[in-house]
Amino acid sequence: MIMRRKFIKTIFGSIFTILLTPYSFALAVTKKIINKNLTEEQKEILFNEGTEKPFTSSLLHEKRKGFYHCANCGNKLFSSDAKFDSGTGWPSFSEALPGAFKTKVDFSFGMMRTEYHCAKCGAHHGHVFNDGPTKSKKRFCNNGLCLIFKPST
Ligand SMILES: [Zn+2]
Repeated sequence: MIMRRKFIKTIFGSIFTILLTPYSFALAVTKKIINKNLTEEQKEILFNEGTEKPFTSSLLHEKRKGFYHCANCGNKLFSSDAKFDSGTGWPSFSEALPGAFKTKVDFSFGMMRTEYHCAKCGAHHGHVFNDGPTKSKKRFCNNGLCLIFKPST
């Protein structure tokens, strides 16, 4: 019985830590407009947690090798190697570059989702889900307007 209680306590402790960790990260980032040429639509997504209409991004069918950067601060976020077609209508990636983002639990629309922000400028980029097709199981659902693609060649 004691063993079982200890086990339950450990499990709850872990869940609690997992739930709280994203918050502490998010609080450390202050949003800042760096790129003065952002459009109103980009600002709405990056700084007001807006979402672009699905299937509107020109990056959806981008297949070239290269890197995706933050449209606000230029931070390098994704490699083209992690990009895949999720069919959702938003550019999707199976993993982000190390340290690219900080996450926060988002309870809007009656759902619990993990929202992610650029680690450098704090701008909102999208939500990450655990139903990705690769080994990472991650699916970073990113607004195309928040990204700038720089081809390798
Ligand atoms: Zn940024």
